[in-house]
Amino acid sequence: MSTIFSKIAKGEIPSYKIAENEDFFAFLDINPMAKGHTLVIPKKEVDYIFDLDDEVLAKLNIFAKKIAIAQKEALQCLRIGSMVIGLEVPHAHIHLIPINKESDMSLSNPRLKLSEEEFIEIANAIKAKL
Ligand code: 5GP
Repeated sequence: MSTIFSKIAKGEIPSYKIAENEDFFAFLDINPMAKGHTLVIPKKEVDYIFDLDDEVLAKLNIFAKKIAIAQKEALQCLRIGSMVIGLEVPHAHIHLIPINKESDMSLSNPRLKLSEEEFIEIANAIKAKL
């Protein structure tokens, strides 16, 4: 059975896509901790990120780096925080979160509710920097 993230990567479920290549896919988190909160996944279905082959994990991080650089240029923030949680969706992913202070990474922060227009605007701003 396919994970929800596999369905997103295949285009079977809509998402606000940021980028993809043969092996990886990046899209906006639907319940973002900050504007521009992005998830980066391997297309290959592996539940736990630290079960990925070394080479895939390294390439996933290199792909994430490109996204993070574009996020930082597109959005007003001091850093892009990187986090792995993986308790909700059983498909390896890295959270890339624009932050200005340590508490912006707190999991207890309320998630933002954005309109479709806002998601599209944010995705376009990041994509324009890639
Ligand atoms: P985790 O598995 O790392 O604990 O959390 C999964 C993350 O995926 C959450 O931040 C959640 O908002 C996000 N998420 C869950 N389902 C969807 C979805 O269908 N689309 C998108 N874009 N994000 C999702």
